[in-house]
Amino acid sequence: MDTLEQGSLDRQAEIEANLAEVRARVQSACRAVGRDPGEVRLVVVTKTFPASDVAILVDLGCTDVAENRDQEAGPKRAAVESESPTAMRWHMIGQLQRNKARSVATWADIVESVDRTSLASALSTAAVALGRSIDVMIQVCLDRDPAPGRGGIPPAQALELANLCQSLPSLDLVGVMGVAPYPGDPDEAFGRLAEVHARIREAHPSATELSAGMSGDLESAIAHGATQVRIGGAVLGKRPPLK
Ligand SMILES: *Cc1c(COP(=O)(O)O)cnc(C)c1O
Repeated sequence: MDTLEQGSLDRQAEIEANLAEVRARVQSACRAVGRDPGEVRLVVVTKTFPASDVAILVDLGCTDVAENRDQEAGPKRAAVESESPTAMRWHMIGQLQRNKARSVATWADIVESVDRTSLASALSTAAVALGRSIDVMIQVCLDRDPAPGRGGIPPAQALELANLCQSLPSLDLVGVMGVAPYPGDPDEAFGRLAEVHARIREAHPSATELSAGMSGDLESAIAHGATQVRIGGAVLGKRPPLK
């Protein structure tokens, strides 16, 4: 066996062990609050990691991966699918300029970071032109002092944006997404996110998804009703620095 193969086997074993640990954390977090672990989808955040890691995740039975940069994700999806055609679902979780909507619509099955009307409209236009439909989530800002670049719409405006998304062609509103401020109290932040979700769900019963929780705070998110956690480091290890 050559060293390249040995290296990828080592990587597979590492990811497999990490996945088992994360799944165990999800299970015990669910048990702690009387939820069924089957209600919580694990989305592995593969940003900055190579296509070969996504191929390993495919082998290990993962169903969902997330990326935060258009220029990285499109080629990565193409590379993965040329090697192992799969039914993996690709999520966009990063801040998105309107002029990238067309490109994102070619690879993303779901865009979780919809936080303004101009972006929702651009995604709808792109999806219509491509003849596909895209699931969307409203990203809600949970920061008390919103900082540039973090994204998210203020909670008070989220329902209005949800209404717009639901009315636009080729977009399906499936829920809300949030990132807890760090440092900060994730319980308090996810509590607010859950309230926003409840209001949106009342108006749009099919918006069932609550995307909350990362490597450091998945237990809190699950306690507040997360139906999906987005886990990077705890599965794939330390990320190379973002450029
Ligand atoms: C990077 C990222 C994650 C994953 O964070 P980890 O701490 O590595 O688990 C989750 N959500 C968003 C929006 C991210 O940008």
